[in-house]
Amino acid sequence: MRSDMELLPLIFECAHRPTVIAGPCGAESEEQVMETARRLCAAGVKVFRAGVWKPRTKPGGFEGRGDICLEWLARVRRETGMYTAVEVATPRHVVAALRAGMDILWIGARTSADPFAVQEIADALRGEDITVLVKNPVNPDLELWIGALQRLYNAGIRRIGAVHRGFSEYRRTQYRNTPLWGIPIELHRRLPQLPLFCDPSHLGGRREFVSSLSQQAMDLGFDGLFVEAHCSPDDALSDSRQQITPEVLSDIMGSLVIRDTDGTVAAEAGLEGMRGEIDALDDELLALLARRMAVARDIGHYKREHALSVLQAQRYDDMLRRRELQSEQMGLDAEFVKNILRIIHEQSVQIQMTIGEL
Ligand code: PEP
Ligand code: MN
Repeated sequence: MRSDMELLPLIFECAHRPTVIAGPCGAESEEQVMETARRLCAAGVKVFRAGVWKPRTKPGGFEGRGDICLEWLARVRRETGMYTAVEVATPRHVVAALRAGMDILWIGARTSADPFAVQEIADALRGEDITVLVKNPVNPDLELWIGALQRLYNAGIRRIGAVHRGFSEYRRTQYRNTPLWGIPIELHRRLPQLPLFCDPSHLGGRREFVSSLSQQAMDLGFDGLFVEAHCSPDDALSDSRQQITPEVLSDIMGSLVIRDTDGTVAAEAGLEGMRGEIDALDDELLALLARRMAVARDIGHYKREHALSVLQAQRYDDMLRRRELQSEQMGLDAEFVKNILRIIHEQSVQIQMTIGEL
């Protein structure tokens, strides 16, 4: 994928930021789909999304109602005039969605991480004039994301956009998926003509975060938002905590501050992205420190039960020597690392001594 690749406009208008794509995580019933769509339409949303086949982490959850939903979405299209978007993960999904006249297909984060699956989808799309959005892969791998876009481009698809929905983390953070804004920013730097959407729903995982994440995306110059909205969010069969009503979405859209993305603002946006990355890294550092201190506490209890002394000098010396070597290999200043480790170690010892006093 090169910066000079020629893309065509997406099927819907992207000129005024933000372009909003919204709809329920999953199509659950004809009534739920129609009611959500009517209310979104009244809120000014032009593109309706709904999951028809839901990829679930574990079996047994709501896996979508399947092909029947495509008829409901076709009705949304007929009766409201909105464009319709569905997620596809297999060639069979592609065939069914095209046959039902869907305007936009999107490739989900689990699928975009799998080159075989993306290639099969691209092959099934060869020769079609359709809009395809590609979510970032669940793992923070920009090349894999670009690779998925490239497979579609090589299959002749020219109406392509990307959706940033954050990245999976083993550890819990405040967000469901860590934003790592630097990755979509780098994607934009490399492919400036590619429309870029932000999915604040899957990023944050909670409805309270939708507004602030949407604002951040606008500040970073994203073209659009890809938001989960449901007529009755608390009753949603999947992702209920992160869905909002069409009316709340409308309020959020009305409150967004949209700044121009001219030269200076774009330059500032780049800085914002790096600052976002620093903030995310600091979140990780704090989470790691909290976990480290929790383990130190466990060690303290263990030592107390087994009548071991708190400070074991030999172990501390070994640890410092090993880390000194490692910091050099990682291009970090050894003295700096030693200072940090000393403070952390002192705090661990302090915690363990307090246990001794209890
Ligand atoms: C979705 O948009 O409903 C979805 C499954 O998202 P993701 O692929 O980003 O997890
Ligand atoms: Mn969802």
